[in-house]
Amino acid sequence: MTALTYAEAQERCRLLDVLGYRVELDLTGGDEVFGSVTVVRFGCRAPGAGSFIEITPARLRRVILNGQDVDPAGLAGNRLPLAGLRAANELRVEADMPYSHTGAGLHRFTDTADGETYLALHGGLDNAQRVFAAFDQPDLKAPFTATVTAPASWTVLGNGLARPSGGGRWELAATPPISTYLFTLAAGPYYSISAERHGIPFGLHARQSLAGHLNRDAAEILAITSACFDRYREIFAEPYPYDSYDQVFVPELESGAVENPGCVTFRDDFLFPPAVSRAERQLRGMVIAHEMAHMWFGDLVTMRWWNDVWLSESFATYMGFRVLAEATGFTAAWTDFALASKTRGYDADQRESTHPVAPEPREVPDTDAARAGYDDISYAKGASALRQLVAWLGWPAFLAGINDYFARYRFGSASLADLLDCLTRASGTEAGEWAGPWLRTAGVDTLTVSRPEPPGRVGCISHAGGRPHRIWVGVYDEGPGGLALRTRIPVLVPADARAVVLPAAAVWPEPALLLPNDGDSSYCKVRLDPVSQATLAASVSRLADPLSRAVAWNGVRDLVRDGELAPRQYLALAARHLPAETDGSIAGHVLGYARWTVADRYLPPGLRGAALADITTLCRDLLSPHPAGDGDEMRLPAVRGLIDSASGPDDISALWSWLAAGRVPGGPDLDSRLRWQILLRLTVLGAASRAEIEHDADRDATAAGQLSAARCRAALPDQDAKQAAWVAMLRGLDGALSGYELTAAVQGFWQADQAELLAGYVPRYFAALTGAALTGAAPDAGLARIWCLHGFPHHAADAATVRAGERCLAAGGLSGSLRRLLADQLEDLRRSVAVRSAAQ
Ligand SMILES: [Zn+2]
Repeated sequence: MTALTYAEAQERCRLLDVLGYRVELDLTGGDEVFGSVTVVRFGCRAPGAGSFIEITPARLRRVILNGQDVDPAGLAGNRLPLAGLRAANELRVEADMPYSHTGAGLHRFTDTADGETYLALHGGLDNAQRVFAAFDQPDLKAPFTATVTAPASWTVLGNGLARPSGGGRWELAATPPISTYLFTLAAGPYYSISAERHGIPFGLHARQSLAGHLNRDAAEILAITSACFDRYREIFAEPYPYDSYDQVFVPELESGAVENPGCVTFRDDFLFPPAVSRAERQLRGMVIAHEMAHMWFGDLVTMRWWNDVWLSESFATYMGFRVLAEATGFTAAWTDFALASKTRGYDADQRESTHPVAPEPREVPDTDAARAGYDDISYAKGASALRQLVAWLGWPAFLAGINDYFARYRFGSASLADLLDCLTRASGTEAGEWAGPWLRTAGVDTLTVSRPEPPGRVGCISHAGGRPHRIWVGVYDEGPGGLALRTRIPVLVPADARAVVLPAAAVWPEPALLLPNDGDSSYCKVRLDPVSQATLAASVSRLADPLSRAVAWNGVRDLVRDGELAPRQYLALAARHLPAETDGSIAGHVLGYARWTVADRYLPPGLRGAALADITTLCRDLLSPHPAGDGDEMRLPAVRGLIDSASGPDDISALWSWLAAGRVPGGPDLDSRLRWQILLRLTVLGAASRAEIEHDADRDATAAGQLSAARCRAALPDQDAKQAAWVAMLRGLDGALSGYELTAAVQGFWQADQAELLAGYVPRYFAALTGAALTGAAPDAGLARIWCLHGFPHHAADAATVRAGERCLAAGGLSGSLRRLLADQLEDLRRSVAVRSAAQ
């Protein structure tokens, strides 16, 4: 598929005015292809000129432009040339289109639980052309109508309200102008729950085998949906732009969710099994709020070109956390933002591949480069920058600016400059001056606190970087029940200031702790003075506000990452402070970092066993009656941590006894997800056999169960099983497996516990990627991404792995977005090597 360049998109946008699409799909033609007829009406501003439309058919049956047949053989790759355009044109394209099994286009999935088939369009970027003939760029928006013919027992869902018209035909109501990448469709024997809010029909949909899950969760999902909907209605002047709001939980979606106007699709593992943590439910709530924000940010007003992905993603991320925290019971959502999202943003921003939140269009030269833009800079750093912008302008001015932006560009497209104009008008502040360092410049600033030395001198915050920061410094004293907040002092750090003097109230009388960026309003690395650092090491769990604790834990994580604190110290801090922790989200993230980063990547292999033992001891401690009396929220992270870190004979027999009892002593009951998690760990350790995996696979026919079984098979610690898994993975990279199946296989395959057994596969991993790229045999971009992202041997943190990876990069052949992904993994690996060698 030829990538569309920015120059081509600009030229086509100047030339064409797309007036409307009519899409007719026939889903009754077997399991290989579906029928697709597109009728698109469009104007041409230079009659006589030519252009092209994109489509990737299995067979192009017929093309008619303005009543004249056009030879389908003219299709070149994914581009159909259109010559001799008139001022007003009608193009009809008839094709058979292939179903996707790898998450790009109309994805076809058959449920192993009951044999039912479900289709869902996995859209975004340039996937529309895998379903219909599309001028496939974000700024050529047009109204869509669609007709879908489906098997009689199916339900059809799409952007506009879908109504059956008899004979398996469904008519989808006309949409307002939307971008091609946002057109969607889901079809199958879906189980549905209907509701309504302010006259807008709401629907929840899931495959039949998940009906029980949906029934269990529907009340919470609808309550969050309604609360967020009400809140957006309250703050946005522009009414909800579409005729309905469906939320469809679809199988095998690669992303968490997709913001199709009026019909959001979610991964269906957001319908949880019974043992679910509050942090997981909060994450789902955030995704609901995030996708709903997109109805305005991204859907109503769309970026002109992919360089401004952040105009969708940063805003939806920011609004998602904000609205969830304001409008629902998940009031501590920002804690999770700090620990989950921002850490990824900081990591991404310190890699060589970092880029400005809002790059120039020429920095995203084509749709392949655009793929890389859906990253932690666009989501996490961008949202952090917006949080700082709100601290800067104030919420009323910020909101006035974005409401002006919606009013001016509704159902159209806009760019950074358009947004800045609106914010400047609304606030009376030159938003461009703020945007330069924050949105147009890559990298992260560091704020370092220093105390008066000798006493009597001033304390200050020194500033390495070029962004202005409006932050609060938390001033804490030792108190009887914990660290007592004396005050939070607002501090303005100008862009060009190298140091800012702290007010006397911050440093006298001398506090136990000075915590910069307390409340996490800005995006920066923080470094504490030695006294504060010692206080935190002794007392981080005694900070009352979970967001303060999150800022503190992020600071510790950063020190380890930068090689300024020994990785074992992180484990010691976790052991000291998690027993007093009450926020399950903090416990889950700290345990996860300890287990998967510190133990597997940062500690030398010789120290790994002791680290796992420390983590299991900690988790057992967390599972004993909890002093804070809020044990339930802490319980599941501890159970999961114990399972994942189990290693000794006592751990193994404990896990077997849980399986036999169907329950963790003291709860929870084991659901299918926990059972498989235990079996995977036992398999990795050589304590469960293939027979035991097959026994459970037979008992659990669900798609999730089958994926878990595949993960376990790939984890079996013998040479034959590894070789079989390796062959299956290679076939998967070539397209024989779905994206989920490949993910399960590669996740099961690489295990730090099996480093010796796997050593020979590390160079072969890179060779496979090079080979696939150079021979052109693969890779489907999505599958190759999975190979790089989930299949990277991060545990093999040594010089030989680094060299093999560098040779793979140097061999060439990888597309731009894939190169970047591999380069990022290698950079993380080099960091692991450095931290590991210092920890010897
Ligand atoms: Zn989004």
